[in-house]
Amino acid sequence: AKRSGRGIVRLFDESMDEGIRFRRRVEGGLSQAIAKGELSLVYQPIVSRDAVEVVGFEALIRWSTDEYGAMSPSTFIPIAEESNLIHELGDWVLREALPVLKQWPDQYVSVNFSPRQFRRHDFVGHIMDSVERAGVEPARLQIEITETAIFDDAERAAETLYKLRQMGFRIALDDFGTGYSSLYNIRKFALDCLKIDRSFIDGMSRERESAAIVHSIIHLGRALGLGVIAEGVETEAQVQALKLAGASHFQGYFFSRPVGADVALGMAGARYLG
Ligand code: C2E
Ligand code: CA
Ligand code: CA
Ligand code: CA
Repeated sequence: AKRSGRGIVRLFDESMDEGIRFRRRVEGGLSQAIAKGELSLVYQPIVSRDAVEVVGFEALIRWSTDEYGAMSPSTFIPIAEESNLIHELGDWVLREALPVLKQWPDQYVSVNFSPRQFRRHDFVGHIMDSVERAGVEPARLQIEITETAIFDDAERAAETLYKLRQMGFRIALDDFGTGYSSLYNIRKFALDCLKIDRSFIDGMSRERESAAIVHSIIHLGRALGLGVIAEGVETEAQVQALKLAGASHFQGYFFSRPVGADVALGMAGARYLG
């Protein structure tokens, strides 16, 4: 037992080292990614339930490196989030997305902000400066934050969201249902919409539980006067079920994968039929 115990300890140490080395390499790569021009943004349409027209696009970051090829943001964003790199990346995203947005007739761009970005002390001023510099109306920027960003210090988060909303920004609560949200707290936050996490949409047809959660979120959103965006919509059957349940907007591969700025511009100009 002792022998296998030692073996386990050693393996564990080695895999820790491996993990730390990987993180350091990713951090090093990311710190040069902007200068090297390795980052790009893609845009995924968000379509309305009724007219099925494109009301906005979510901006999603892409990183392509010589060393790793295309690395998923689900891998590198959490690593950037552990250091100040996330601020550099976030600033880059806004510098890139806001000029693109100006070419669209009236859609908004929905940008992801990590908890660390949201909690920086000058977040509100910083966002305002960014849109002013770009010459964009605040109403055309939707700020996507997760429950994690707001429930740690709910008082302060409520104040930040209130200020942003006063200035005209749109606020979306992303991945709703996956975090530690207290429903009691939701009403204190100035929000425009809830985004139902893809995992629930995905499970909807197979599990009663997921379907029940989707229905509850839509119900809650409507009762609070919020929009409800269903994300990760991949099939016609999901669209029909979500329409019946009362979702206000859809996003997902059924309508379109995230696309480059040029293709997004084409979609923004025309009515989009899924
Ligand atoms: P998220 O904010 O929940 O974004 C939705 C993810 O679902 C995106 O993955 C999108 O490409 C994917 N998706 C959309 N529709 C479908 C569908 O129908 N089926 C499936 N299977 N997937 C779908 P992506 O682009 O890999 O981004 C992963 C996560 O990385 C995002 O999750 C977000 O948390 C983070 N992220 C992406 N871009 C940024 C950014 O600019 N800043 C920050 N802070 N985080 C970002
Ligand atoms: Ca998002
Ligand atoms: Ca999401
Ligand atoms: Ca997600």
